[in-house]
Amino acid sequence: MFGFKFLGRTHIPHHKNTAEMPPVKMTPPKEVLLPMSQHIGAPATPVVKAGDEVKVGQLIAEPTGYVSSPIYASVSGKVLKIEDYLRPDGKTVPAIRIASDGLMTLAEDIAPPTVSDFDSFIEAIRLSGLVGLGGAGFPTSVKLDAVKRGDIKTVIINGAECEPYLTSDTRTMLDDGESVFDGITLLEKYIPSVDKFIFGIEKNKPECIEEMARIFRDNPKVSILPLPSLYPQGAEKIIIYNTTGLVVPEGKLPADVGVLVINVTSLSVLAKYVKTGMPLVERCVTLDGSALANPMNVLAPIGTSVRELVEFSGGFKEEVGKVLFGGPMMGVPAANLDEPITKTTGGITAMNIKDSTEQEPTACIHCGRCVETCPMGLNPTVFAKAVNIEGLEDRMARLEEYSINLCMECGACSFVCPARRPLVQSIRLGKATLRNHKLTNKNK
Ligand code: SF4
Ligand code: SF4
Repeated sequence: MFGFKFLGRTHIPHHKNTAEMPPVKMTPPKEVLLPMSQHIGAPATPVVKAGDEVKVGQLIAEPTGYVSSPIYASVSGKVLKIEDYLRPDGKTVPAIRIASDGLMTLAEDIAPPTVSDFDSFIEAIRLSGLVGLGGAGFPTSVKLDAVKRGDIKTVIINGAECEPYLTSDTRTMLDDGESVFDGITLLEKYIPSVDKFIFGIEKNKPECIEEMARIFRDNPKVSILPLPSLYPQGAEKIIIYNTTGLVVPEGKLPADVGVLVINVTSLSVLAKYVKTGMPLVERCVTLDGSALANPMNVLAPIGTSVRELVEFSGGFKEEVGKVLFGGPMMGVPAANLDEPITKTTGGITAMNIKDSTEQEPTACIHCGRCVETCPMGLNPTVFAKAVNIEGLEDRMARLEEYSINLCMECGACSFVCPARRPLVQSIRLGKATLRNHKLTNKNK
């Protein structure tokens, strides 16, 4: 079909054990912890205090600036306190802890927003609290507002879901087709410059491809594109290239090449908000991994602890070695089971001791597999060396020169390395050091 080769070269064994399991709604948790930063951008600012009674869907933190997102109570009950929360990425942010009364009473002011033109559509999305649910966490209102930067001709609906284990997007396509349809209808109405909607779905989800093709059979603007099951098919720049052949240059956004990418679950949540006015307070989370007794998809209030989620699913069947927010390729380890799920948590992967035990790395054998595998055409070995350069300025200059920020931390290089080198860990360290260095220089 295209005159170019698909990007993404890594075959990863898939364990989509929950693909046929529609999400089960969780019983209300005892409490939730809602960090003020569950998105890219400025943390939200709390508008409640300890002792306040709250209801489901009530605003508890407002956005701080343009690139930010509001937070809503996901249970009804009482605010216990506002505390510091150490995120898995090492940043500390304020978080609101709410004790649930178990009633899940809805806020009285929930009503569909008035949407009549592009600006009111964007404002509605901003108020919904919606951020990229595929894991990126970029506020959806800001993403769609990029339409103002230029002519957006193509919207790519990301249904690739290339992480092993995760199936929440799969379930959206199978269970929530009506909302996906409504989402496309809204985009067609309020972003009329778009003449093409492309669903990118990996071929290992034939039932999703079939269902989307059925739903959109009468809409000539919508095409369903089955993509090879090659990791990392769902990464934004990869899916753009693999569906359109367009390359997003370094430092540019998809909008700069006339494209928007939206995760399929984000699209369905957007449509549900416009219809009902219920902001983002719950999400589907795939629970899976070798330590879990009953892998399943759960519809859980945002802020629920991993512990309560796992207990709801039936607990662990054996001693747990590692718990990840997300899947095994790009997931971030949870420090403990009391950590909460956030807007971007699509899955919890819990591994037993055997599967969590990392084998000792050995010396690089210069096989070149990591370079061959990298979908961005990078050389991961040079990053690993550069992070160990002694002088800070030299180290920073080298990381910049090698374009470390082009790395999307997909983990494919680490996955294929026969010497088990911790490549992606070195890259994360390098990127964080470079980021902090730039920030320090800016604030001088
Ligand atoms: S260098 Fe980055 S983008 Fe390339 S394979 Fe490794 S983690 Fe993925
Ligand atoms: S894949 Fe591993 S062993 Fe091979 S070149 Fe890369 S770092 Fe070295």
